[in-house]
Amino acid sequence: MSSTAIANPVVAQRRREERRRQLFTNKSTHMTQKYLRRVRELGDSLEHMEPFLDVLERIYVRGEHVAVPRGTKTVGTYCVQVPEELVYAAGAQPVKLCSGHYTAFSIGDDVVARDACPLVKAVAGFKQMGTMPAYEDCSLMVVPITCDCKKKIAGLLSETTPVHILPVPANKEDEDVEQLVEEFYGLASVLTQVTGQAITYESLVGALNRTGYAQRELSRFLELKRTTPGLLYGTHAMAAMNASAYLGGDDWARAMRSLNDALVRRAHAGELVTRKDLPRIMLTGSPIVFPNLKIPLLVEEMGGLVVADETCMGERGMSDPVVPVDASFDGLMRALAIRALRPCPCPTFADNTQRIYRLRQMVRDYHVEGVIYHVLRGCLVYDYEYRLMEEELERLGIPVIRLESDYTDQDVEQLRIRIEAFVEMIKLKKGPLRAMRS
Ligand code: SF4
Ligand code: SF4
Repeated sequence: MSSTAIANPVVAQRRREERRRQLFTNKSTHMTQKYLRRVRELGDSLEHMEPFLDVLERIYVRGEHVAVPRGTKTVGTYCVQVPEELVYAAGAQPVKLCSGHYTAFSIGDDVVARDACPLVKAVAGFKQMGTMPAYEDCSLMVVPITCDCKKKIAGLLSETTPVHILPVPANKEDEDVEQLVEEFYGLASVLTQVTGQAITYESLVGALNRTGYAQRELSRFLELKRTTPGLLYGTHAMAAMNASAYLGGDDWARAMRSLNDALVRRAHAGELVTRKDLPRIMLTGSPIVFPNLKIPLLVEEMGGLVVADETCMGERGMSDPVVPVDASFDGLMRALAIRALRPCPCPTFADNTQRIYRLRQMVRDYHVEGVIYHVLRGCLVYDYEYRLMEEELERLGIPVIRLESDYTDQDVEQLRIRIEAFVEMIKLKKGPLRAMRS
């Protein structure tokens, strides 16, 4: 047989693969553009939102690499339990890779177990297609074992990328903190091998200052949102939080600072983007990851206002500060472990009184009038906790609905009907109160 005859099927196969990837890229770009357009058209979007929307567009539509200083390696992370400070301290840049992409989900649906959650299916889809630089550039991925889906996706990712598995204790006792401190020392040494840069006391303090700057701007932002309802749409706030996945800590903090300064000016001038008295909705439950913003978009398109989001890609993702136990290297490592465990309301812990406490606090702080509990299909841990949350909210007299969704547009109409009815019900409930006050 001639070499041409052998080569032809190979070339043909390669062309088929290229066509498949091109088709995937076209569909995936179209999907992201659609959601970005809806976010931009939602209402009066501040120009200071642009850096956040721009990075989402660069990564998902233009397929750009995550911008890092020359020679800097990127480390993919999943979940809030991975201490980004260690990644920075080793001279690398963390990139959060949990995904909300429908096109990638449709590919991953054929790759992982049918009942796995869409978030890990979307991750699997991107890895399968190999078209997304944010994934392909990673020198290492750190996957915490928080739930079964994360455990299995860690195995799948390790077929093509170096993966460090980070076991996370199921409890929050002193011995669990000790166990996590050990794990963080192990992670620090893997990061050092990957970057060739040792993590020192000084580099760790520098990293803590860096994330601390971002957290300070985030708390300013949350305070502005809390004290001046209608200053910006909740969907815009969630897009800004999601953008932190691809903007280095300093860049995100600077963009957030400009947004905060603009919001302060607007608050003083009384310039609001919505009426103040719209039904005040809190989102909680399974992660809401860009571009899967259909639920916050529907809430705000239907006349509600997302005043708070208690999800891991939103406020919760960055809000817990690191409080050093003492000024030694070990004290800093211990503080990172405590931050990852004690205040964390992820439903993957066995005892989740912390989550109920956080929910109560947010309902009070944001004057929440209704809660939407989001369950991604296949996300058992959140589904499991719904009953507890429902009971607690009933005690507080706050209406709640459970919305199950997937990474597809097919459930949008059904979601729209339920969200519209929920928003209308809160408006009716508010009506008599307004009448009594006037
Ligand atoms: S809620 Fe789930 S996906 Fe989000 S950080 Fe926690 S364990 Fe990870
Ligand atoms: S916590 Fe839920 S959404 Fe997150 S990875 Fe696990 S199953 Fe998926």
